[in-house]
Amino acid sequence: MTKMIRKAVCDLNAYIVDQTYTVAKLNQNECPFDIEEKLKNEICKRVSKVPWNRYPDSECTVLRNRLSDYTNHPSDGIVLGNSSNEIIRMVYSACCRSGDKVVISEPGFVVFKRTCQIMGLDAIEVSLTEDFNFDVDEIIRSAQNAKLIITASPNNPTGTWLSMADIEKIAGSVDCIFALDEAYFEFFGQDASNLLHKYKNLVVIRTFSKALSLAGIRLGYLLGHPEVVFHMSKAKMPFSVGWFPQIAGEVILENKDFVKLNTDRIIKERNRIFAELKKMDYIIPIPSRTNFIMFQLLKHSAFEIEEKIRKAGILIRNFSGKLLEDKLRVTIGLPEENDAFLEALASSLK
Ligand code: PMP
Repeated sequence: MTKMIRKAVCDLNAYIVDQTYTVAKLNQNECPFDIEEKLKNEICKRVSKVPWNRYPDSECTVLRNRLSDYTNHPSDGIVLGNSSNEIIRMVYSACCRSGDKVVISEPGFVVFKRTCQIMGLDAIEVSLTEDFNFDVDEIIRSAQNAKLIITASPNNPTGTWLSMADIEKIAGSVDCIFALDEAYFEFFGQDASNLLHKYKNLVVIRTFSKALSLAGIRLGYLLGHPEVVFHMSKAKMPFSVGWFPQIAGEVILENKDFVKLNTDRIIKERNRIFAELKKMDYIIPIPSRTNFIMFQLLKHSAFEIEEKIRKAGILIRNFSGKLLEDKLRVTIGLPEENDAFLEALASSLK
């Protein structure tokens, strides 16, 4: 059977993330706050009123208008997808065909490289510097014959970011699409969509999975110049955003206070955890503008510490690979989950 499936696809590791835990799940950068019962009921009420036998609104008209208010970007410059992963795939499909070059940063969001492997694209990996900053000049040099640059800022898994000046420098120096993934935008506050009127080759990708608490619903979007968005949208599967995510997205954007409150709480906790990690022996946390922190282990192996923390019922993320062998990533959870993590980490270092 496997002879019928491309070797590049058979060779991939299955994308399986551990989801069994007893104390805290701090391994997938989700929002620790589920949406309130009354909002869930409101979503269900509205979903029950639309016809389920008909296809949903393919243009996501109402949600696009809400997002236009939320982002301050014109609605004809917005396209929605079934998660930002789908949006990433749409951008690749719109810009690249087999053999084309795509510039990514390493370490970076794993889906960027994986999509290159699945689509038979040539991933040009530009390494972050030792202190996890982006090598902007190398990105620009590598993009000479590329069809796409894609990178996340703030970056996953490092939490480090590109300045607005660097984003402008890249967008203004290259002849290809520059897709900037701002999945963690709400925790950062820096908004590259302000540059979209100036650089037609720049597109910004965002998600409802992080600060907006809807990882289980699957909803993401792209902001860009209306003409670019019009053409890119044709590379997306039709009707991929059903009524349920459309309506859930509308309701959450009608309740922005809930989002702001959660985001503020997470940032406060992130700063607290960072300070606590800084006090620990043999640990160096990397400054982050997201809802997670990567930290370096000076004396212990990442596998050993991850395993000990898992035994305490807590999931965190261990990546192997260049620059990451001695590092772990923890997502910011509820205060009591974060305390349990700090305690488990401290005792695992003993
Ligand atoms: N982009 C980045 C940078 C991410 O870290 C993630 C989630 N880990 C995603 C996209 C995927 O988000 P979604 O749930 O919308 O597919």
